Amino acid sequence: MSVMIDFRNVWKQYQKPAWALSDVSFSIAAGEMCFITGPSGSGKSTILRLVTRECAPNDGQILVGGTEIRRIPGPKIYLLRRAMGVVFQDFRLLHERRVFDNVAVPLRVLGLPEKDIKRKVFIALRMVGLHHRIWNTPSELSYGEQQRVAIARAVVNNPRLLLADEPTGNLDPDLASEIMSLFREINRQGTTVVICTHDRDIVRKFAGRVLPLREGRLREREPA
Ligand code: ADP
Repeated sequence: MSVMIDFRNVWKQYQKPAWALSDVSFSIAAGEMCFITGPSGSGKSTILRLVTRECAPNDGQILVGGTEIRRIPGPKIYLLRRAMGVVFQDFRLLHERRVFDNVAVPLRVLGLPEKDIKRKVFIALRMVGLHHRIWNTPSELSYGEQQRVAIARAVVNNPRLLLADEPTGNLDPDLASEIMSLFREINRQGTTVVICTHDRDIVRKFAGRVLPLREGRLREREPA
């Protein structure tokens, strides 16, 4: 079984004296769906930022798809990021652009022909159940729909890895469940999914592997 994400004794400090992460080690297999849980400030987003190499650890090793990402030269980091999709709590959609253009962003960066862009955008929007909204702008959609557009954008290029940072933080419990079902479906289609959340209800409802963080340290799973 291949390993998608491997943290080995990772330490991360933004400012002295506090450590955002202290000696964190875990691995997530390719094809797994996994939650990183913990209260605000426990280090969840830091783990995601390290995986995307937005920041670097003070110590330890981080491997993504078997490659130690510290060794990737700066001009090649886009290749690492291209293999990932990221979903945020605040959606980060372009509000003056239509749904189509929002989902097309990662494909436009790749310079794909317009015909391929149209096909891939349509497939991604159909997967999240929003193909009928393709010509709307995000402000014409509900919060739940906006998050589904953000998810379509994250998966439109078939990433091997989908990272989500508090993806249900702005949604009521019913919409949150819908979004979680969508992540599970994406995972069933073969994408490794890592979801950071402080929402214990979501994790309880969607039984799966949990990596619990407390003050930058990873604890063994608490007994149910
Ligand atoms: P979470 O995602 O669980 O809320 P974070 O990873 O954002 O936690 O933060 C972990 C710790 O690192 C917190 O104490 C936070 O204040 C600190 N931190 C995060 N980002 C920065 C930053 N850019 N500069 C300084 N401290 C930061």
